[in-house]
Amino acid sequence: MSRIVIALGGNALGKTPLEQQAAVKNTTGSIIDLLEEGHQIVLTHGNGPQIGMINLAFELATASKEKTPAMPFPECGAMSQGYIGYHLQNALGREIRSRGITKSVATIVTQVVVDPNDVAFSRPTKPIGSFYSEKEAASLKAEKGYEMVEDAGRGYRRVVPSPLPVDIAEKDIIKNLVDCGQLVITCGGGGIPVIRDGDQLKGIPAVIDKDFASEKLAEMIEADFLVILTAVERVALNFGSAREKWLAQMTVKEAKEYCAQGHFASGSMLPKVKASLQFVASGKNKKSLITSLEKVKEGLSGRTGTIIVKH
Ligand code: ADP
Ligand code: MG
Repeated sequence: MSRIVIALGGNALGKTPLEQQAAVKNTTGSIIDLLEEGHQIVLTHGNGPQIGMINLAFELATASKEKTPAMPFPECGAMSQGYIGYHLQNALGREIRSRGITKSVATIVTQVVVDPNDVAFSRPTKPIGSFYSEKEAASLKAEKGYEMVEDAGRGYRRVVPSPLPVDIAEKDIIKNLVDCGQLVITCGGGGIPVIRDGDQLKGIPAVIDKDFASEKLAEMIEADFLVILTAVERVALNFGSAREKWLAQMTVKEAKEYCAQGHFASGSMLPKVKASLQFVASGKNKKSLITSLEKVKEGLSGRTGTIIVKH
């Protein structure tokens, strides 16, 4: 029996509710197979496209004549956790019942604590929401204090910081449920970013990388295996070039060298490789796998994917 944290990529979940329901179905069977084999499973997921959609919908509705309140970014994150969690627990619940398994699945709205002194706060990098003209961007900056940057010739966008996860507010209840063998969906979108203020946790506009949050969770609940599912079957060196080489395995040392050599794109594959090597280095007999949503079964049986091992 292993304790496995499985992180689902937000980009592999599709762009609409219908696409998302279809994408979720692809993984349901494999996840419940693992549960049936006696493994303890915790699911995490990304939310980039989904929180973008929620944020944009509120921006448009707030600007219209209808009286829709402005929705703060942490609240948009909470909505995305509920929306994605609902589809996941609906599909997984159905599979559990159809196999007569006596376990339950639930989504936990998760707050992830970040350090207000994290260097990320001095350099916001994550673009969110709509595109604006230079003039609109200037007035948003003046009115709301948003940090605005030009995004690849497509217009101006708001950017928020991407701090590292420090603690998971709901970690005890997550651990309790996993100890009982229940299936838990948590840390959606990297968690709702909060900072500690005395007894209070305050939501802030930021994006925690879901790969780093999943790694933190895997360490905190003493998981054996961190599985990161995304849109590619394996990690590559020289990705997208004529010298592209797909990797079946990397040691921690090799992974660090490849990171330093710039093989992995910073907003996409780099956090996955860094999260994997950090997890593997964090204890004895820990391993990590990066593969695609569709190939999860073959990946877990060692037939595909990129496995990250200590030595
Ligand atoms: P997710 O939503 O799962 O976090 P991302 O789009 O953030 O997905 O990251 C996965 C993407 O990273 C892949 O689909 C691929 O296009 C890209 N990528 C960048 N560098 C590499 C690499 N060296 N090997 C494989 N994929 C890479
Ligand atoms: Mg990503």
